[in-house]
Amino acid sequence: MAEPDFYLSDEQRELQRALREFVAKEIKPIAAQCDADERYPLALFPKLGELGYLGLRFPEDSGGSGGTNLDYSILCEELAYGSAGIALGLYVHMALACAALEAFGSEPLKQRWLRPALRGEKIGAWAFAEAGAGSDAGSVATRAVADGDGYILDGSKLFITNGPIADFLVVVASTAPEQRIKGLSLFLVERDRPGFRIAGSLSKLGVRASEMAELVFEGCRVPRENLLGREHRGFLDALRTLTLGRIASAAFAIGVARAAFDATLAYAGQRIQFGQPIGSFQAVRFGIADMAVQIEAARLLCHRAAIAADRGLPHGREANMAKLYATEACTRIVERALHYHGAAGFMTDSPIQRFYRDCKVFELGEGSSELQRDMIARELGL
Ligand SMILES: Cc1cc2nc3c(=O)[nH]c(=O)nc-3n(C[C@H](O)[C@H](O)[C@H](O)COP(=O)(O)OP(=O)(O)OC[C@H]3O[C@@H](n4cnc5c(N)ncnc54)[C@H](O)[C@@H]3O)c2cc1C
Repeated sequence: MAEPDFYLSDEQRELQRALREFVAKEIKPIAAQCDADERYPLALFPKLGELGYLGLRFPEDSGGSGGTNLDYSILCEELAYGSAGIALGLYVHMALACAALEAFGSEPLKQRWLRPALRGEKIGAWAFAEAGAGSDAGSVATRAVADGDGYILDGSKLFITNGPIADFLVVVASTAPEQRIKGLSLFLVERDRPGFRIAGSLSKLGVRASEMAELVFEGCRVPRENLLGREHRGFLDALRTLTLGRIASAAFAIGVARAAFDATLAYAGQRIQFGQPIGSFQAVRFGIADMAVQIEAARLLCHRAAIAADRGLPHGREANMAKLYATEACTRIVERALHYHGAAGFMTDSPIQRFYRDCKVFELGEGSSELQRDMIARELGL
């Protein structure tokens, strides 16, 4: 599909081209198997690190390869085009764990964890959610109690992507429970810390190439230098600093929607019923035209938010709108893609059923649609 990419620089077009080549060669061929096996292809981490993709948007003096938010949204769209599950694992590693380390970690922590992580030699996870804390961050019950020259962590985390494969975790824990969200701090916890254990892997409907676990902290002692950022304010600072999540979610949704669209466009030209391709029936033609419009609208919203962020302009509302529209459009588009594929799309060997299982998660994570609408309404003065 022709793309509204006239505003991309030559370098960004080249990045997009190189990523499409990489995804076609390294991700698309393994996507179905990783999904079936619920296994992350770990070998991708060093490959992406070597090509500088893991370091995209990270400063060069931290071991990154520089670049813009727009570059990053191009990366997210292309990775998700290949596999939403694989893209999700990389996202948690880069945009949450590594970004928190980069923003709030001390120089020795960065040397020890961030540089190897950007080379793909270490894998990170972001441990925020709990059985009782999802949309409501103030309900986090994992405690971190100051003790001498460190903190002792107790509690458990649920739904943690990369949990089973991570070398280090950025853990959100309460240092001042009575202050709820204003009492949450961030800690780096290494996988081999005594008192930390993986309670079990979790099996999911979609994005199954990414691995997920429940984590437990029982008297897990971390040194004071593992506190990332300000005590009590680390999580709020992270919410303010790590604003890319919504833009990335939008870009992932666009990648999945585009994969479903491309497959549907091809199928509509090949599938013959009543002596003609189904793409010649007006009902199908109109549906596919609507898919194309929604993908381009979503991408424009996403890129607008990324460009605003790159220019240092306010971009909170733009990111909310992009995330809300792109993720809901993705679900609509994938549903239509399955519909136009008929029974063929319903079979487990069809990528369409994978897109159908994958798409919903983008409406839930990084602030559900309801939370996006709430923030947009608040910005509008309601
Ligand atoms: C595939 C996947 C990967 C994940 N990976 C991670 C990870 O790596 N790290 C991590 O920390 N977490 C992870 N999570 C968990 C994620 O952070 C939570 O799913 C998310 O925060 C939402 O919380 P919840 O699922 O408990 O839903 P809830 O907060 O219980 O929400 C349930 C429903 O209630 C609605 N709702 C809640 N509050 C309001 C409100 N105020 N107004 C209107 N409606 C509301 C929601 O929109 C939703 O529809 C992952 C989840 C999934 C599915």
